[in-house]
Amino acid sequence: MPFPDWTEEHQAFRETVRRFAEEEIRPNADKWDAEGNYPSDIFPKAGALGLLGVRMDPKWGGSGLDYWYTVILVEELVRGRDIGAVVGLMVQSEMATSVINAHGTDELCNEWLVPAIRGEKIAALGVTEPAGGSDVAALQTSAKLDGDDYIINGSKIFISNGARADFVTLAVRTGGSGPDGVSLIVCPTNSKGFSVGRRLEKVDQHSGDTVELFFDGIRIPRKNLIGQEGRGFRYIMGAFQGERLVLSTMMNSVCRDVMEETLNYIAQRKAFGQSIGSMQTWRHRMADHLTDLEASESLTYRAADQLVSGDPQGEVTVSMSKLYGAEMIRRIILDCAHAHGGYGFMRENYVARCTRGVQNWGIGAGTSEVMREIIAKRCMKKAAT
Ligand SMILES: Cc1cc2nc3c(=O)[nH]c(=O)nc-3n(C[C@H](O)[C@H](O)[C@H](O)COP(=O)(O)OP(=O)(O)OC[C@H]3O[C@@H](n4cnc5c(N)ncnc54)[C@H](O)[C@@H]3O)c2cc1C
Repeated sequence: MPFPDWTEEHQAFRETVRRFAEEEIRPNADKWDAEGNYPSDIFPKAGALGLLGVRMDPKWGGSGLDYWYTVILVEELVRGRDIGAVVGLMVQSEMATSVINAHGTDELCNEWLVPAIRGEKIAALGVTEPAGGSDVAALQTSAKLDGDDYIINGSKIFISNGARADFVTLAVRTGGSGPDGVSLIVCPTNSKGFSVGRRLEKVDQHSGDTVELFFDGIRIPRKNLIGQEGRGFRYIMGAFQGERLVLSTMMNSVCRDVMEETLNYIAQRKAFGQSIGSMQTWRHRMADHLTDLEASESLTYRAADQLVSGDPQGEVTVSMSKLYGAEMIRRIILDCAHAHGGYGFMRENYVARCTRGVQNWGIGAGTSEVMREIIAKRCMKKAAT
């Protein structure tokens, strides 16, 4: 399926998200970026429209839809032009909650997932640690059983939503070294011994809170374990598919928006008696970028299609899609900013602001090197059999 076969239901959902992005995010995007914060009330607003539980079980208030709706959600949210807020919403609706939906007990879902889908409780995902993020199987934050409680000690870093979260879907070590010692636990942030460290000053996504978290002898009831002990690494790896699809779609959508803005700009802007857009050097560059973007979108849609149909190849395709997108976005954004001349360096210009984030897209949800490893491993295995 080269392109999604969008139905009326998809279009209706798209309209809902577009209106939300146009009304709630876009008018505030410049302000939130300048102030370095967005208000937490966008969570209940998004929740009321059903945007925070798109793929979640209807039993918990979700819509029970598939990844195509996640793609639409991201494509339209990005048009709001505040990536910090979009990341926050997507951590809530996909990254921190999908594992609870998939593996949590009814009690856990009732207590944490239901309010998260409504936007009444805010979620964060705590995997990365100061000693490293790529090697998830080596994480050190420990959770030791003491009676019916886990005692948690350790720290996390770069945690999105971390300052405003009501709970953290937390990766901990409950067993020995390696992947089989990793588990996932719901950690309420009002627990004694929990603290939020520095709000990290990011180069981009200024409005989003990305922080250090500390766990100092926190006591968490055993019932907060998500799924089975020792299965956390597998759960995280499974959830990464959705995260990578989200990030791939975000990159495409940022590029699509920036391309449209740039094509309009160079059609109007004149130099040496002609529009910049009529000069062959820019016409050809834009043609290259549109081709690049079309290729990237096709790859992302193919990944979505495979993930929806349960094709195991989806893991490789979504990694390719994230890798490709992270390389593409550098080419497109930097060139589009350049096409704006001096305005392409002004903070008030959204295209210029997008240049701040170009390097980051190859980091979150697995770096580009990790993507290459996944792709290579699968290809080598295939070649060897
Ligand atoms: C804005 C932002 C938001 C984030 N939000 C969250 C969040 O909400 N929750 C969360 O848990 N984490 C979050 N992260 C963390 C992110 O997932 C990690 O930064 C990422 O996984 C990389 O880990 P690291 O920074 O420790 O880099 P490292 O793992 O130390 O890697 C450093 C460099 O070495 C390379 N490298 C590592 N292994 C290999 C290898 N095998 N072969 C070749 N090269 C390799 C990497 O690609 C990278 O270039 C966020 C990060 C950012 C920047």
